[in-house]
Amino acid sequence: MNLPVVDVSGIVKSYQMETHQVPVLRAVDLRLESGTFFAVMGASGSGKSTLLNIIGCLDRPDSGSYRLDGIDVLRSSDNELSRLRSRYLGFVFQTFNLISTLTVKENVELPFLYRTEHRDDISQRVDAAIAQVGLSERANHRPFELSGGEMQRVAIARALATDPKLILADEPTGNLDSQMSREIMELFKRLHAQGRTIILVTHDPQIAAYADACATMHDGRFIHDAL
Ligand code: ADP
Ligand code: MG
Repeated sequence: MNLPVVDVSGIVKSYQMETHQVPVLRAVDLRLESGTFFAVMGASGSGKSTLLNIIGCLDRPDSGSYRLDGIDVLRSSDNELSRLRSRYLGFVFQTFNLISTLTVKENVELPFLYRTEHRDDISQRVDAAIAQVGLSERANHRPFELSGGEMQRVAIARALATDPKLILADEPTGNLDSQMSREIMELFKRLHAQGRTIILVTHDPQIAAYADACATMHDGRFIHDAL
């Protein structure tokens, strides 16, 4: 069997409120092989984003274990986590998170800011990522000149450009109408067909149906065994 890209086991997380601890994740397990397109479903507040942020090395659990491509994430320092994020992961958020004063091309270049590749290589990879999401004609536009669907495609290009091992998307269609949502999901489907590993968080079963595997969270746990 291949080494899983994501190997999460017994992850527990709670938040300290004024007087008590609120459990958010209660012993979550998840193993994903390279090339999987996996959807995490569940109602608002069920813990989806918390889990995705832990998988994305943006947050740490209270206990459990997590290996990302064999690396023991929970024993890594904050510096190592930043490095893991920039080398291994691409993020797509509901609110696009583009920088409004930068052009499309400059936004897609952002993940390379602290990397040492040659400028020409970076420029080529950025152009290729923008072409892949069908926005070459818009490379010098700024976000306010784009539709919501186009802005999300820029965010996907930015997530792709560094050739990450794993793409994490948290409600990527949450701010889009149904036509634009379909376009974005068709794009994710194409990326999956090219061999990309994707974790998609959504509360919408129609969106989750684009993935090839899916599990539902309820109250900080997967209801069914996830793979
Ligand atoms: P989902 O993405 O499924 O809507 P979240 O993972 O965002 O759920 O949140 C799960 C629960 O954890 C919610 O009850 C939420 O209020 C709580 N929560 C999330 N982040 C924090 C935080 N930083 N501080 C306190 N509670 C939080
Ligand atoms: Mg959420």
